[in-house]
Amino acid sequence: MTNTQHTAMYTPTTPYDSMLARFNKAAGLLQLSEETREKLRRPAKQILLNFSITMDNGQEKNFEGYRVIHSTILGPSKGGIRYDTGVNIHEVKALAAWMTWKSALAGIPFGGAKGGIVCDPQKLSKSELEKLTRAYTQALADTFGPHKDVPAPDMGTGPDEMGWLMDEFSLQHGKTIHAVVTGKHLHSGGSLGRVEATGKGVSIITLLALEKRNKRPSKTNVAIQGFGNVGMHTALFLWEKGVKVVAVSDVDTALFNPEGFNVPDLIAYAQRNDKSIYGYYDAYQILHEELLTLPVDVLIPAAKEDVITAGNAALIKAPIIIEAANGPVSADADRILQEKNTLVVPDILANAGGVTVSYFEWLQNTLHESWDINRVNERLAAILEKSFSEVYQAAGELNETLRTAAYYLAVKRVVAGQQLTAVLD
Ligand code: GLU
Repeated sequence: MTNTQHTAMYTPTTPYDSMLARFNKAAGLLQLSEETREKLRRPAKQILLNFSITMDNGQEKNFEGYRVIHSTILGPSKGGIRYDTGVNIHEVKALAAWMTWKSALAGIPFGGAKGGIVCDPQKLSKSELEKLTRAYTQALADTFGPHKDVPAPDMGTGPDEMGWLMDEFSLQHGKTIHAVVTGKHLHSGGSLGRVEATGKGVSIITLLALEKRNKRPSKTNVAIQGFGNVGMHTALFLWEKGVKVVAVSDVDTALFNPEGFNVPDLIAYAQRNDKSIYGYYDAYQILHEELLTLPVDVLIPAAKEDVITAGNAALIKAPIIIEAANGPVSADADRILQEKNTLVVPDILANAGGVTVSYFEWLQNTLHESWDINRVNERLAAILEKSFSEVYQAAGELNETLRTAAYYLAVKRVVAGQQLTAVLD
């Protein structure tokens, strides 16, 4: 992707370094002891796998996989599995820790984990993807579990992979265990509203941020980087609220339409076009890096880490950034954006809709219930609204950014949980 190539040279640090910089800031405000900091900085467990599957052409091929469990202090570890060529240990460690802070901030009784396989899912057939997912699950059959470690989708994975994972885990354990994984198809025990949950949450948070800046949705235009599950649903829900989506991108292209896209039409186009928005008729093509620096009201990076760094932060014109992706702003860009008075709503708050509805799915599986969509959406909105106002209030009290306030609250809750665990020990 052009963006990554463009920004990579400005990013000497890893996502894990960015996570640590933010954690250290919060730990300082909370006056945590060095011992506690050390415990919370490092993942509880890091698993590196090497396994092989037989490809469609009959040849054996090796793959590298990861599962990192950052914390189980507040509950079973929870977090997605990423299929991407760029997956590496620094990324997975950061993503796992972000899950810990994200669940703690939302008040969800889960810890944090993340996994991944180094592969290009676009280049694998459906049967190869199934074999890959089953092999990964077999290797982690003792790690996963409804009360131990509960995976979910992330970049490059979705309900198909989660269904295979549940099936394989159930086979390994000799009984059907729905609650081992979330983000499944409805027919495999999934929840209504899970597919669109992250985007729905991002749109709820965006509207709350607009309110704080006294901006009406109908007078707002946004640029969204990334048109995968999260970017697409964010675009749709904001469009439904009258927000103008004027720029969108995916790995293949970046598009601009000053009048605002007809988002349902754009989504229908992508669905016909192998999930790509490349070649969409009602738009001008722009450069990937141009999308980030457009003079829009809100910029929503919904692709991956480190797209806004010290190298391009000064060029960002949007006064509001909503982090739909995990870690899209690197820590070295924080100060630059703060000096510009950019309102950055951090990932652990902005994209918590996904894990929140994952929690609902896990609850439904555990309780053998099935919730209607209104119940899912009402509870989702209630949790996000509460989190947003807690973070906003803490930021005011601490006189810090929303990001620092979010980490402050999250880390504080995990520390409180850890003390409780120590008492129970
Ligand atoms: N992968 C998503 C995230 O980064 C969802 C995780 C989950 O539902 O467990 O938040």
